[in-house]
Amino acid sequence: MINKEKDIKLPLKRIISNNFFMIKMMNKASPGLFLINILFNVWFSLSDFIFYTLMLRYIINGIGRDIKFLPLVTTLLVWLVLQIIMRFLSDLYYQKYYSMKLNEVFRYVHTVVYKKAEEVELGCYENPKFYDGFVKAISECQNRTGQIINTINQVVYRVVHFSADFILLTVIDPFLLLFVILPVLVAPLKVKFNKIAYSRTVKTQINNRRRDYSQRVFYLADYAKELRLTNMPGLMIKCFREASLKNMKILKEHGVKLAVMAYISAFISEILAPLGATFYSVWKTLGVKTMAYGDCVVVINSIDNLANTLTNSADILMKFQENALFIENLREFLSYEPKIKEGELCLKEKGSLVLNNVFFKYDGAKDYTLKNVSIEIGPNEKVAIVGHNGAGKSTLVKLLLRLYDPTRGSITYAGQNVKNYRLKEFRNAFSVVMQDFHIFAMSVFDNVMLKKHNEENREKVKSSLEKSGLYPKIESFANKEDTIMTREFDDKGEQLSGGEQQKLAIAHVYSKENRFVILDEPSSALDPIAEYEMYERMREACKDCGIIFISHRLSSAVTADKIYLMEDGTVAESGTHRQLMEKKGKYASMFLKQAENYGEVE
Ligand code: ADP
Repeated sequence: MINKEKDIKLPLKRIISNNFFMIKMMNKASPGLFLINILFNVWFSLSDFIFYTLMLRYIINGIGRDIKFLPLVTTLLVWLVLQIIMRFLSDLYYQKYYSMKLNEVFRYVHTVVYKKAEEVELGCYENPKFYDGFVKAISECQNRTGQIINTINQVVYRVVHFSADFILLTVIDPFLLLFVILPVLVAPLKVKFNKIAYSRTVKTQINNRRRDYSQRVFYLADYAKELRLTNMPGLMIKCFREASLKNMKILKEHGVKLAVMAYISAFISEILAPLGATFYSVWKTLGVKTMAYGDCVVVINSIDNLANTLTNSADILMKFQENALFIENLREFLSYEPKIKEGELCLKEKGSLVLNNVFFKYDGAKDYTLKNVSIEIGPNEKVAIVGHNGAGKSTLVKLLLRLYDPTRGSITYAGQNVKNYRLKEFRNAFSVVMQDFHIFAMSVFDNVMLKKHNEENREKVKSSLEKSGLYPKIESFANKEDTIMTREFDDKGEQLSGGEQQKLAIAHVYSKENRFVILDEPSSALDPIAEYEMYERMREACKDCGIIFISHRLSSAVTADKIYLMEDGTVAESGTHRQLMEKKGKYASMFLKQAENYGEVE
């Protein structure tokens, strides 16, 4: 993703191309929106010019001359009717169609971004530069899209108005153009001002993020307990304060320089240019009497607008640049080629899942996390992968699910490299309950199905909840399986306990057809006996699929068809419980030690 310091130097060609990219995207999302918007802005601009400039000039120049009252009133009336109609149309357009169309654009851009977010591999979340751009692409896309449209509206309005004023002033007296040009001289100063102000803002961003993190910690439910049970609030307030103070220091930097630059440019464009033009026109009108009264009024009236348009053109360019930077980020994000590639094969017959001499290293890590791992899991086999924390068990699961691909070696399913299968279809063959599973702030129904569903699935959801042992609890809620989890969006929402949440996560496993079920220590809140019972229930319910259960507790592995003991990223031992106990190796000694602790030696 792009580097902010480098951002400031985005070439003009890229700025233009980025803005066109967004316009194309908007047009795709809502055909016609862009064109209608431009037409309305051309109309607004021209009607302002005609009414407040041309009409004013016509009336004042007509006073004292032989102005005909009737044609004037008729023209005014026609104009008034036209204004009434256009005002009605524009209000209807902006209040109804425009907001709806804009919403369509937001929805389209969000959908494109979300789809891409789904595609990028897990490793991207560990790459800070990419992650930063990724977060910006998602979090800023609505505001930025709105800003881009506003900027284009402003440009259209200003360019039309400026051109009309410019032509009129040239007709009245070409010498007046000198005063119009004056603000152009300060444009480079404005550009410099904007650059310094922008880089100051960029510098504050890192502190803003730190500040926002402290802020989040205070309102996110995840941290609520720790905040109350520890002295973290004091530490978080300190972090918040430090980030704010660092920002104060940055904001103080160049403060005087910016003030002087702002003053000079304002003096030239907002005082010198209008005042000069006013004195000149008054002299021409009252002194040498070569300028008509109406022309004088028009000059005084429009010089300010002309000067402002020119001075602010630097601001508008800056906005274009800023928008272009966001679009650059978005384009880079959308054009990112995921490292986990799609395959073409459909899953057909059932088969074994096999790891052949797999090595795996995380991006940026020095050592391999998995080293020469070879494992075979039969279609209906119940396999336990055990080992101490940090042995590489969860990493192995991530590779099985193609969240990462092996650095060396291969994983096959039914004899085919898993890379050859369609990714979604392959992943869908698994049901996974992770160690750090999440319950979504949606209904129980949604949390069990974890996909779009309809009424026909209700019975399935009920039976899944029954199998996981959570149904009695859900039945006690007024809205039963339509109850929303958490009270974040619904006063009638319910909060489940840790153990109940686990049961809800496990209910999902029963709601679909699986080829393999992976349980990555989802039962950490259960005691060894409850964990054992949960595994046994699942073994009973999932007879026709493979089960891979990961645990550091060996008691759950006793009845597995096969056990793999992982140690330091390798398979240290494998076999059935009986074989491994007879071997009297690492597994046997670990098992005896754990059993002793729980006082349940067979
Ligand atoms: P286990 O599930 O057996 O507890 P893990 O597979 O979670 O072990 O971790 C194995 C090793 O890989 C640990 O040393 C851990 O620090 C490292 N590790 C895990 N996830 C990442 C990651 N995303 N990036 C770098 N190293 C990681």
